[in-house]
Order: sequence, then structure tokens, then C-alpha cells
Amino acid sequence: MELCTYKIRITGTVQGVGFRPFVYALSQRYVLQGTVCNTPQGVVIFVNTDTITLKQFLIALEYEHPLLASIQSIEHEELDYTVFEDFKIIKTEDTGAVTANIPPDVSICSECEKELLDSKNRRFKYPFITCTHCGVRYSIINTLPYDRVNTSMKFFKMCILCEEEYNNPLDRRYHAQPIGCFECGPQLQLLDNVCESTSFLGIQTVVDLFQQGKIIAVKGVGGYHLMCDARNEKAVETLRKRKKRVSKPFAMMVRDIQMAKEYASINEKESELLSSKERPIVILSANTDKTKNLHPQSSKVGVFLPYTPLHLLLLESLQRPLLATSANVVDEPICTNLEDLKKLEGVYDYVLEHNRDIVNGCDDSVLFVVKNQTLMLRRARGYAPVQVKLPFKLEKNVLALGANQKTTIAIGFDNQVILSPHIGDLHTINSMDYYKKNIKTLENMYSFTPEVIAYDKHPHYETTKIAQELLASKKVQSEKKVQHHFAHVLAVMAEKALTKKVFAVAFDGTGFGDDGNLWGGEFMLCDYDGYERIAHIAYFKLLGGAKAIKEPKRVALALLFDLYAEKVFALNNPTTQSFSQKELRSYFLTYKKGINAPLSSSVGRLFDAVASLLGVCHVMSYEGESGILLEELYDASVQGHYRFGYENTKIDILPLLEDILSESDVVVATSKFFHTLVKIIELVYEPYDLDLVLSGGVFQNRVLVSLVLDKFPQAILPNIIPPNDGGIALGQVVARINTEDKNND
Ligand SMILES: [Zn+2]
Ligand SMILES: [Zn+2]
Repeated sequence: MELCTYKIRITGTVQGVGFRPFVYALSQRYVLQGTVCNTPQGVVIFVNTDTITLKQFLIALEYEHPLLASIQSIEHEELDYTVFEDFKIIKTEDTGAVTANIPPDVSICSECEKELLDSKNRRFKYPFITCTHCGVRYSIINTLPYDRVNTSMKFFKMCILCEEEYNNPLDRRYHAQPIGCFECGPQLQLLDNVCESTSFLGIQTVVDLFQQGKIIAVKGVGGYHLMCDARNEKAVETLRKRKKRVSKPFAMMVRDIQMAKEYASINEKESELLSSKERPIVILSANTDKTKNLHPQSSKVGVFLPYTPLHLLLLESLQRPLLATSANVVDEPICTNLEDLKKLEGVYDYVLEHNRDIVNGCDDSVLFVVKNQTLMLRRARGYAPVQVKLPFKLEKNVLALGANQKTTIAIGFDNQVILSPHIGDLHTINSMDYYKKNIKTLENMYSFTPEVIAYDKHPHYETTKIAQELLASKKVQSEKKVQHHFAHVLAVMAEKALTKKVFAVAFDGTGFGDDGNLWGGEFMLCDYDGYERIAHIAYFKLLGGAKAIKEPKRVALALLFDLYAEKVFALNNPTTQSFSQKELRSYFLTYKKGINAPLSSSVGRLFDAVASLLGVCHVMSYEGESGILLEELYDASVQGHYRFGYENTKIDILPLLEDILSESDVVVATSKFFHTLVKIIELVYEPYDLDLVLSGGVFQNRVLVSLVLDKFPQAILPNIIPPNDGGIALGQVVARINTEDKNND
């Protein structure tokens, strides 16, 4: 058969995952001559072959590729015949715009695990063992292409043995950028509570400290964890006190699935997720009280498996679960270097440090499974940055700034969107710096220049200020302001590549509405071009504005005033009891005059109000507390729902609250409250023959999600991006609303 030269281009996640050695191995199987190299767009192969072998070769590329690779496209073209003597992996070409995907950080692979625990291997107990199938990626990359010089591994000069592996196309460590060993790679160091070096005889020293109940800051992949023995009540209590974290749940890291099963019930899907290469924290149902102090208010416990060789060595030796929580100052991003960590002085007793820099901070991912669907609460390590392929092409390059809480940012070009990992809340100078750094990182990695800036309509969000700065600096020409809940819905549409108009329910905390009120109980007909708000929860007042978001009793009190006006002073229920008579009277005045009492339709706040009326929670110690407490009270055997009104696009919830007040059993009241929300959705959705999309932070509530899916099994929820504000940036990118040109002077 006639030999021709073919050029094959492969795009997707194909760098840093052992793709070129895989291609090399295939070339040996099919006896092909040619070359393979990385480019900023992916991988390019030149081969001399006939059409039949080419077909087999292409099929093998598509179906046998390495575990960590994911192929987006394979294209080939015939070229003029060129002579190649053999098959070679050649140096990276760095020309053209970067579109290749950045590989995420993944957990240690089974082969490295075997070597780690093999006393004859030269990397026996080496805490940074890695290969092309596993280990750090995103967290150490400065820029693409993914080569060692573009990562924080550039400071480590390979020893002869490592270099041999690195240069051998048939070795599992061929071009494994983070490769190293005891001789040449990163090393551990133990520091005391003021970050001074202290005596360290290896992993056992640290394990001994854990056994003594010490709290240790352990440097991981995308930041530090605070860790202690999860079964040592005193250690856990000390950590709570030092971190001033009264009741918010902590996650725990366990040796393996067997150990996980000692603490939680795990179904097949959850087990798969726990042991997946991404190793997220999976929220599970606890089956014992042995670690109750990790989750004092909830029957759910966050569990994850070790994802670095270091974690594995610690747990292998300790044989007990470790409490593991991100080391960060309240409201600030995860600490990624010692300087940051020092701000937590007094919280940890020791620091297990290493000398490989974390370039890009990245938290642990958090998710749970409901009705066999994955719901992402936080998308970060292992999954991020995430690439979403759109069902259409974007006309311009869009930078989306996300929202103010649980922020992520996104860049959109061509028919794809890259969503950053979870960044966090934008309340402090440090978090703003971290946020801006994340924008730069994505822009650098993808050589991306924004033409349009997309952001939330809220006039006081930090993101709005940043948008204005960018527009003023003329770095970006035009803007689009995207309504918060519209963005929530669009994010799901983009993830699922939906192209038809949908009926959407956005149940959320609060987001700025088109009428200036704080929306969050919205029913919308949406497509990419816009939305129609067909119904919403009737407005109620948030007494004290932002304060009401942390104090459910304020929301409940305003609703009581709606129902009973001055008669509230004489009422005796958990909400009124939580105020003094004097307070009740003074709040009634501000309520009547509407001073610092913005209107809201938020279902998140409705949960708060119900929690206060039932005496479950008046002031929250962490976000989402009222929802967690109500979940706990739900009883599946309780039937029926409460009254509500629906007239003229408004859903009147006052009858619902009256019914709750007259209910003596908290469990019955809570359960019927959940059923009522489903009933409301049912009633509003009834006349429409459109797909039902659910989005917004309230859909992190597993009881509500489960009940809605019982009623509407075909309802569409996001599975890749979070239903909370972590998904907003994706929605902002794809909104096809008119952009305003700001710099046409
Ligand atoms: Zn490996
Ligand atoms: Zn070495």
C-alpha cells in the first residue's frame, strides 16, 4: 500500500498525562515513522503510514489513551510525503494561542502506591513519589505548555537516575514533570509552633505527635490542612477553640474505603467517588457517634481518602482517621505558603513543611450524592480548572467575574469556557489579592485577552468594582451585567448544553434583582438571550439588611410583623422569645418605616425564618446552618403540606408560616415545610411544557433535592458545577444579552 504523511492534531487534556509516551508506544506497535510533540493547542503527530493502519492508529489513540487524558478532538490531514527514519518525541513547539487544557491535580496512582510501600524500591516512603499517571499539576504550573521549567519543580535539578527515567520514552516517568527522589526532589521539614525548624526523624515523628493529640499544619497540594487525630476528642475540641469554630462540621481523611465504612454508610456511587483519582470530600451519612464532635449538629460527615503519598504514609502508620480542614484565616483564602500560615500562629502546634512551592492555591472539592446524582458543593482540587464545551460559539472573548461569595471566575472563547477552582468569599484585602491572582493565572495560562467583561448586577459587589477598574483602564472594551439568578440558570444550561427555552426554579440566598430588591425565590422562563420572571416568593423585609442574613430571627420577626403587626408584642413563640420587649418595639418601628429593611423573595431566607420560628436557630454561626438543622429534623414518614397563596405572579408564604406557628411538633412542621416548597414548584410549573431546571444555593439541601426529584425525576440539576454561587461565572459568560461598549469615545 502507498505510504503517505499524515498530520494528526489532538486537543483536550493531553499534556502532563503521559500522552506522548503512549503515542510512542503505539508507533512501535504499528511500526510507524514520524514525530510527536506538545503544542500550546494540544499534541501534534506526524506519521508515515497507509490508510488502513492510519485508521487503526486513530482508533487506538481515541480508545486506549492514558487514564488522565481526555480527548476533545482528533483531526488528521494528508501532507506531502516527508521522510522520517524512526519515531521520535520532539521538543515542544510553543507557537500560537494556548488552548490545551491544564491538567488538574490528581491522587497518587496504584503503581506509585505500590512503589511507595515497597522497601526494595528506591522511592520507598518518598513522600513526593509521582509519575505521568498521577500527582500535582495545576497547583505547580506557572504557565503552559506544561513543562518542568514552567512549574515550581524548576528549582530541583534531577539526579542521574531520575533524569534517565525522565528521558526514557518507555518509562512510566517519561516527562513526568514533578519527578524526583530522596536525592534530588522536594523534602519534608518539621517546624514548631513559631515555624522554627525542629527535630524530625521522618513520618514516625509526626505520627507520634498526632498520637499525643497535637494539631499539625500539613502542607498538601493546593494549600495547608490543619490536621489532628479525629478520634481524639480533646484535640478536636482544642482545634475548635483555637479556630473559633463552634459547630461547623469538619471533614476527616481515612486510610481507605474499609476505614471509611467504619464511620459512614457508603453506597456504590459514593465509594466510586471517594476512590476516584480526584479524591473529593464526599458528604456521607455517619453510622457511628465515634466522630460526632466533627459534626455535632448533623448526621452527615465529610470523608475523603489520602491523595498524596505524604497523606498515605501518615495514615498508613497512624491507622486512625485524621481530621483535615483547610488552613485559612476566617473569610480568607487557603494558606499556600509559610508567610500566610503564620497568621494562624497559635492554632497549630507544628507544621509539616516541604520545599515545593504551591503556585496556584486550590481547596479540596466537596460533593454529595442524592438519588444517584452528584451534587458539587465546591469544585476545586482534582476537578479544576474545568472546561465546559458550549453548544454554540462565543462571538467575543469573555472574562466573567462571578459573584461575591464562593466565587469562581471564568474565561470564555470560541465554544468553550474555563472555570477556575473555588476562590472563596471576597470580604478582605487578602481574598481580593488572591482573586485577582486567579484572574491573571487563567489569562496567562491561556494567553487570553478579554474583550467583554461580564459581572453581577449587584452595585456593591467587589466584582463590580473590579469590572469598573478594568473598564476604566481600557483593558476591556465592553461589559455585560448579568442578573444573578439568570446566571444561575444559564450555568446549568451551559453545563448540560441545553439549547431550548427552559422553566427554571432559582432558589437561592440573595441576589440583586432587576427591581433593586434581593431576589432568591424565582421562577423564570430562560434561554441564552434573556428571561421572563413568571413568579416569585412575595417580598418580605430583611430587618437590618446584611445582618438579617446571619440572624434568622430578624427575618422571622419581619414575617411575624407582616402577619400580626403590633400584636406580635403579645405573642409567645421561639422567635419573639429571642428578643426583649424593647427590641420588639424598636424593630417594629424600623419595620414600619422600612429603615434598613430591604425587600427580599429569597427562599434561603425563608429557611432561616422557619428555623427561627421553630426555635431551631436564631443566629447562625456559619453559612447554611439553618438548612443543615432543618435537614436533620425532616421525617420521611410525615405526609402533607401547608397552605400558601399564588396570585398575580406572587407566592404568598404567610399562610405557610401561620400553619407552622400552630404546629406543636417541630419534626412535623419541618417535614411539611419541605413538602410545601415542592408543592409550590409543582403548581407554578404545571402549565408549562418545558424542561425543568433547578439552580441556586438552596438546591444544596439534600432533602429538598431528593423530594423534588421524587416528584420530577426528569428535573435538571447541575452535576459538574455547583448549584451555588460557584457556578455564576459560567452563566455570566454565556448570557447573550446586549453588551455595552464603554470605551467608544
Ligand atoms: Zn504514579
Ligand atoms: Zn532523583
